Amino acid sequence: MDTAFLSELSRIVGADGLRASTAEKHAYAFDAYTLEKQLPGVVALPRSTDEVAAIARLCHQHGVSMVPRGAGTGLAGGATANDDQVLISLSRMNRILTVDAPNRRLRAQAGAVNVYLTRAAAPDGLMYAPDPSSQTVCTLGGNVANNAGGPHTLKYGVTVNHILGLQMVLADGTILETDLDDVGYDLTGVIVGSEGTLGIVTEATVRLVPAPEAVRTLLAPCDTIDRATELVSAIIAAGILPAALEMIDRTILEAVEAAYHLGLPTDAGAVLLIEVDGPEAGIDRQAELIATICREGGALDVTIASDPLERARLWMARKKSIGTIGRLAPSCATQDGVAPRTKLPLVLREVAEIAAKYQLRIANVFHAGDGNLHPAVLFDERDPEEVQRVLAAGGEILRACVRAGGSLTGEHGIGIEKQEFLDLVFSPEDLDAMRAVRSVFNPNGLVNPGKLFPSGGNCCPHLPRTDNETLLALTKTRAAAV
Ligand SMILES: Cc1cc2nc3c(=O)[nH]c(=O)nc-3n(C[C@H](O)[C@H](O)[C@H](O)COP(=O)(O)OP(=O)(O)OC[C@H]3O[C@@H](n4cnc5c(N)ncnc54)[C@H](O)[C@@H]3O)c2cc1C
Repeated sequence: MDTAFLSELSRIVGADGLRASTAEKHAYAFDAYTLEKQLPGVVALPRSTDEVAAIARLCHQHGVSMVPRGAGTGLAGGATANDDQVLISLSRMNRILTVDAPNRRLRAQAGAVNVYLTRAAAPDGLMYAPDPSSQTVCTLGGNVANNAGGPHTLKYGVTVNHILGLQMVLADGTILETDLDDVGYDLTGVIVGSEGTLGIVTEATVRLVPAPEAVRTLLAPCDTIDRATELVSAIIAAGILPAALEMIDRTILEAVEAAYHLGLPTDAGAVLLIEVDGPEAGIDRQAELIATICREGGALDVTIASDPLERARLWMARKKSIGTIGRLAPSCATQDGVAPRTKLPLVLREVAEIAAKYQLRIANVFHAGDGNLHPAVLFDERDPEEVQRVLAAGGEILRACVRAGGSLTGEHGIGIEKQEFLDLVFSPEDLDAMRAVRSVFNPNGLVNPGKLFPSGGNCCPHLPRTDNETLLALTKTRAAAV
C-alpha cells in the first residue's frame, strides 16, 4: 500500500492502531469460514466513531476499499479483505455506553461483545435476547451486519427485532444516525443484515427485555435423528412456544463428551435440548407437557434440569459443540440452510444421502425449532480434492433446503460463501432492487466490495445513484452527537 496513505492512516489511529506486518495480518486472513484466505493491505483499529469517519474520508479520497470486521466469527467469509483494502477492526470500540433500564434500552459501541450486553443489563433484571452460540466472542456490529440469531430466536426473534437505532459511517465519512422512533423509511431495518455492504456500524441502541422469572430446561435423547425432528413438530403443534428447541446428533455429542465429560447420553442418535421460560406460575406444567409429548413420541428418556448448574451443563453441551468439532477433523464447513420445520426429517435424510454421495462425514447441531440447519461438514482443507467435494456437498445441501421451501441462510449471511446460490431464491429484479439500495448508501462500492452479491463494485450501472445529500434528506440524518 502507498506509504503516504499508510502514514496518514497511522496519524488517525496512532501507530499502535495499525497492523501492517505480514505476521500481524495473518491473524486477520480469514474468519470462521476458513476456505477463503486473503491477507488485508493493512488493519486499522480505531477507538471512536470520529476515527472511523476519518479513515473512511481518507479511503474515499484515495479510492481505497474498506472492510468492517468484528470478532471474525462469521461463517460466510464476509469479514476478510484483500491486499488493496483496509480492514477496519472494531474490536477496540467495545464499550457499553448507557443502560437505560426504565426505558429498557442499552447503547453500546459496535465492537462490544454480545454477552457483555446482558451482563450490563442483568443487575436491572433485564437481558439482551439474541444469544448466538458464539456470544462470548462475537460483537454487536457483526450481529447487526449478519442479523444474528441464536438458540432463543424461536421465542425472542433475531437481531433486527431488538435494534432500536444505529450509528453508521458511510463510505465518504458521513455519520448517519437511525432511530426507530422517527417517522420515514425504516433504515435501521435496511442496515441490519446488510453484511457490512452499506457502511461501518459504530454504535447501536438495543432493546432490553425482562429476564424470565422462571426457566426449565429439558433434555430428550432419541434413538434416531428422524425421531428427534418429528418431536420438534409435535411440540410446536401442541401450541407450546419453547424459548429454545435445539438438536445435537450423536457425532457432536461424542465430541462434546470427550472434551467436557458432561455425562451426555452418547448412545442416543440425537438429543433435543428444550427450554421454556416465563412466569413461575405454570412453568412446571409446560415442562411436564413437553416431557409427556416427548415420551409419547418415542424419546428414550426425558430429564428436566433441576438447578441452575444442571441447566448450565446442558447449555454448555450446545454452546461448545461447534468448538469441539476440532476433535473430529482438521477442518469444518458449517452450512446454514433453513427448511420448514415439518420438512426437517426429509431434509436431514437428504443431508445424510449427500454425505454418503460425497464420502464426507457430516455432523448436525442446529436450531431445530426454527428449522435452521447447521450441517457441519468435516474434512481436511489441505486435501484439494476433498475441498471440492465439500463445496459440492454444501451446494447440494442448500439446494435441498430451498427445494423443501426453505432458504439459503438462517443467520450466517451470504458473505462470499453463498453468492452463487442467490438466484435460487431471488429473481434478477429482486437482486437489482437490493443492489440499488446498496448504491444509495455505498455509491462507489468502497465498503465491503465483493461480498453478498456475486460481483463487487457498483453492480447496478443502469440504476441512478443517489448522492449522500439526497440520502441525508431522505433519512433525516442527524449529526452524530451522542
Ligand atoms: C462457534 C460458532 C457458533 C456460532 N453460532 C451462531 C449462532 O448461534 N447464531 C448466529 O447468528 N451466528 C452464529 N455464528 C456466526 C457468527 O458468530 C455471527 O455471524 C456473528 O454475528 C458474527 O459476529 P462477528 O463480530 O464475529 O463479525 P465478523 O465475523 O467480524 O463479521 C461478520 C460480517 O459483519 C460485518 N461487520 C462486522 N462488524 C461490522 C460493523 N461494525 N459494521 C458493519 N459491518 C460489520 C463484516 O464485514 C462481515 O460481513 C457462530 C459462529 C461460530 C464460530
